[in-house]
Amino acid sequence: MRFIPAGGGRLKRRGVWIVLTVLLVGAGTIGSLFAADAVAHGDAQKSHRAFASSAVGIAATLKLDLQHESDLILGARAFVVGNPDASEAQFAQWANTMGALQRYPELQGFGESRIITASELPAFAAKPVIEAVGASVSSVPFQVIPAGSRPFYCFTVLGLSRNIKESLPPGFDLCAGAEGKALLASRDSGRDALEPLKVGNTTTLSLVLPVYQGGSMPTTVAARRAAFVGWIGMSLVPDVIFDTALSGHANTAVALRYGGTASTVVLRSGPVPKGAQVASIDLHDGWTVLAYGTIAGGGLFSETDSLALLLGGITLTLLLGAFIYVLGSGRARSMLLVDERTDQLRFQALHDSLTGLPNRALIMDRIDQLLARNRRNGTTGAALYVDIDDFKNVNDSLGHEAGDQLLVAVAARMASTLRGADTIGRMGGDEFVVLIDGGLPSVAPELVAQRLLDVMGQPFELHESSMPLVVNASIGIALGDRLSGGELLRDADIALYQAKAGGKNRYDVFHPEMHSELGRRIGLEFDLRSALADEQFRLVYQPIYNLDDLSIVGVEALLRWESPTEGLIQPDEFIPILEQTGQIREVGSWVLHQACRQMATWHARGDTLDVSVNVSGRQLDDDSIVGHIRDALRVSGLDATSLIIEVTETALMRDANSAVGRLQAIKDIGVRIAVDDFGTGYSSLGYLRQFPVDCIKIDKSFTSAIGSSPESKALVRTFVQLGKDLGLKTLAEGVETPEEMDVLRADQVNEVQGFLFARPLEPEILESRFLEPMRPTIGTTRPE
Ligand code: C2E
Ligand code: CA
Ligand code: CA
Repeated sequence: MRFIPAGGGRLKRRGVWIVLTVLLVGAGTIGSLFAADAVAHGDAQKSHRAFASSAVGIAATLKLDLQHESDLILGARAFVVGNPDASEAQFAQWANTMGALQRYPELQGFGESRIITASELPAFAAKPVIEAVGASVSSVPFQVIPAGSRPFYCFTVLGLSRNIKESLPPGFDLCAGAEGKALLASRDSGRDALEPLKVGNTTTLSLVLPVYQGGSMPTTVAARRAAFVGWIGMSLVPDVIFDTALSGHANTAVALRYGGTASTVVLRSGPVPKGAQVASIDLHDGWTVLAYGTIAGGGLFSETDSLALLLGGITLTLLLGAFIYVLGSGRARSMLLVDERTDQLRFQALHDSLTGLPNRALIMDRIDQLLARNRRNGTTGAALYVDIDDFKNVNDSLGHEAGDQLLVAVAARMASTLRGADTIGRMGGDEFVVLIDGGLPSVAPELVAQRLLDVMGQPFELHESSMPLVVNASIGIALGDRLSGGELLRDADIALYQAKAGGKNRYDVFHPEMHSELGRRIGLEFDLRSALADEQFRLVYQPIYNLDDLSIVGVEALLRWESPTEGLIQPDEFIPILEQTGQIREVGSWVLHQACRQMATWHARGDTLDVSVNVSGRQLDDDSIVGHIRDALRVSGLDATSLIIEVTETALMRDANSAVGRLQAIKDIGVRIAVDDFGTGYSSLGYLRQFPVDCIKIDKSFTSAIGSSPESKALVRTFVQLGKDLGLKTLAEGVETPEEMDVLRADQVNEVQGFLFARPLEPEILESRFLEPMRPTIGTTRPE
């Protein structure tokens, strides 16, 4: 940001510091230090700072608007590439689903234009219906505008316009006018072009983007010409953009400058206030925002103190004048340059270079302002901490460039759902903060959070990925007053932590008990570090039955933790912590060894059960899992065919490609694989084909709903059918009632597991009550 002084005030203030130094060195009196300091931080500077921050706010709004436009234009390009022969109606329908005209009030119209050669003209002109879409006018006679015969024309072939009067008439040759040159240059360069475009009485801003076959840009000019399809273009009404950006910023004017390769376009919002200062903000994509505002005078005469300071200031200013006179103007100019650079750096220092959003430093400043403002007005503000779920997976599987693209798209999407009064910033990584001012008309922060979750859930189209990408986010909300902005943010962060722990893709509102819940979790995390070494883990075993004759065919090993401080803790509580800290690999390996050893012991007594061991997604993330399984089998002597590995559907999908490879390696050992919690993941049924699995374990949510929900019942039937088609065994988990069992039997589910038959049991109990009595001929002692 650059400040160009309109008067001499700046020099005075800077001089105060210089004089201050001179006085300090010369006299070193505390009195003059105080006066100089006070003047230096006077009202004018405050107002100067307020202007700076208001300029930054305006620039941020404008930047987001421009991002919306480029989002839309990229979307339109993707549509045209994917549907090269789309009709007007299909295009209009697509635009409608995008909500283009409703969501972007500045958008006057948009569409696709193509080059039509002189020889193609008769056929083009004779096309039966050339409609001006957007209003109900149907056929308009075709007529080349401006009239005349030329070697080629640039006509709009698909278009949508807000207002029929302002839509381009069919036959309007975009290449005949001044903007034609820019269009052709953009075809050759592959870059976008921006031109003022006059249709009827309105001058709009036209932004066009070339489209090539296949969607990607060829590397040479000749290849670009050969693959050229047309242009996607949109026309924007600059005033609408300015109105939103300037709302809340009285006495300010703004200009937007676009310095393309071929030309520079400047758009202005209105008259520049008299005596205005100008702040220039580079948006780093060809656009520069110039904000003009007057600096309000401070109330210097209202208090004797400030009057005294003013007099002091005048005296210092006089001294400064002399000083500058002596030093000469050359020095002053270089100081000015230093200041300009400093201001530019300050803008960069306060904004995130990827998304252009306010960064952590600026957000912290805004939160303090938010708290102060709400305290004054007696309203309740809020901070939302937003974090993308499993963002690391995107980076890992699609690369950092895709990750960056996703962040930009997420930022744009979030911004488009917020009101102008709300602030959004990027705290770093995949963390964003939204600040909601409590002033009227206020929207409940929970609603804002829900809306954010809704819009985030829509798939993202990235260049880097051929498939639309679905990501979710978790949100922590903190409401009301705090001693500092940092505290509000910390509370929102704690609530975010809860939202993540509570299953992600959700929001949680902070309440003070969360502090103690967090404290507990941190305590558990601490205790877990020594749990394995101190032998606090053990396994219990839940029997699995064949549904035909209700004989026990196997057991599932389930982990328990006897914490020294809290007693028995269930896996749902501590396994997520082990996963987060990475300890799950070590603990998981222990589980494998322990379960195999136990089963080998039972086999030695003559039992022939299988043992199922749960393996978490984090364990499947690296190749060591295969070694751990092999070791556990070798050390225990258990036959590989008696071991079943349970992997959840979600774990499979985390990184499907490497999961397939590892599962295949596990199968090659002879171990079987079951898909756990089947039906709860987001995957399609068809994906199962690509994984080498043997069994699906239908999640207990379906089993429990079998009696009450026809959908669940139908789904279970589908799962069983799918299992049959793919030659997989089906098992229903969580069977609690005889009625459920009957339905499952009618559906021909193979195996069952649930409290109806047996709970998870200590090995001794299982052995004494459920397993074959020991045969006298085999083994005499029970190894531990
Ligand atoms: P899961 O793999 O789905 O295990 C089945 C869970 O359902 C067990 O809970 C079991 O006690 C419970 N259950 C079984 N029958 C019924 C029933 O009829 N009704 C109800 N309401 N529940 C039933 P548990 O032992 O608390 O384990 C919870 C989850 O923790 C497991 O779900 C599994 O995902 C995880 N887990 C347990 N042990 C391990 C382990 O060694 N490694 C890993 N990675 N995860 C484990
Ligand atoms: Ca399981
Ligand atoms: Ca399960």
